[in-house]
Amino acid sequence: MHDIIIVGSGPAGWTAAIYAARADRKPLVFEGIETGGQLMTTTEVENYPGFPKGILGPELMPLFREQAKRFGAEIRSELVERIHPTEDGFEVTAKGEIYKAKTVILAMGATARRLGLPAEKALYGHGVSACATCDGFFFKGKNVVVVGGGDSAMEEAQFLTRFASQVTIVHRRNEFRASKIMQERALANPKIRVIWDSEVADILGVEVGHVTGVRLRNVKTGETSEISMDGVFAAIGHEPNSLLVADLVDLDEKKYVKTIPGTTKTKVPGLFACGDLQDPWYRQAVTAAGTGCMAAIDADHYLAE
Ligand code: NAP
Repeated sequence: MHDIIIVGSGPAGWTAAIYAARADRKPLVFEGIETGGQLMTTTEVENYPGFPKGILGPELMPLFREQAKRFGAEIRSELVERIHPTEDGFEVTAKGEIYKAKTVILAMGATARRLGLPAEKALYGHGVSACATCDGFFFKGKNVVVVGGGDSAMEEAQFLTRFASQVTIVHRRNEFRASKIMQERALANPKIRVIWDSEVADILGVEVGHVTGVRLRNVKTGETSEISMDGVFAAIGHEPNSLLVADLVDLDEKKYVKTIPGTTKTKVPGLFACGDLQDPWYRQAVTAAGTGCMAAIDADHYLAE
């Protein structure tokens, strides 16, 4: 019987693990198959305090992990399949094996949203991507589209200009949602142009097996047009990874896990949620880490009581 099982390995999960381990609760962390969460697919993180020169996401996350390990967190690189409440706590199933714990901290984060076009699926990895950091390199001297108007779209577009000869941001409205500084940087970049009030109605090239262009639809006039493109990057937000606990806890209308305000407590005693899984608003690495800390403290208090 473990005191605390933590599910997830982004900033929230690792921070919970660091705090739980330092409270001598010997947490067991299920880090999943791809450790590190969303920061593993970002580039420069400039707003995580303590790194005045910035740090790459894929460099930052192993540091979190190492710190949790240093204080004795046990780590399993497995996906949790089921969480089941019992009389004295929870049964957590991973790879068919059952682990018991008095408390569970949920930190499964969120996943990038897809456009939902059949061609997107067919051409995924053949010009369609949701991760500029991972795939930007393949677009040297090419033309790419970035869909979206938030910080992610600005960041991906900026990053892609390192490789692509032109980056076209396609946004469904006539103003960006992104922070001012990110917008300004993107708009000042001569390799970036913007097509406003438009959505990607289709991705072309399925018959030849790679992206050859996109069909755009102006949402105001309904007019469609086709432009030649080599790549399509969707940067249109995220969905919380709450399916695992959908029957267990309350979810809001966007499927984020509901917690009691000011705490990480879910409606189930002993079950806590932190990070992007329960945060539709801030969704920052530092706020995820903050709520991860809260979850470990909440779980520690619960165990003490
Ligand atoms: P977001 O802020 O939710 O923005 C998503 C964008 O995609 C919006 O512009 C939205 O359009 C558009 N969109 C959504 N669904 C769409 C669809 N089906 N088709 C076309 N467009 C669609 O998501 P995000 O940019 O991933 O950012 C998430 C959070 O992370 C934010 O809080 C952001 O500040 C933060 N973030 C920060 C940094 C940084 O500071 N370095 C970097 C990345 C992300 P509408 O505007 O019309 O809704």
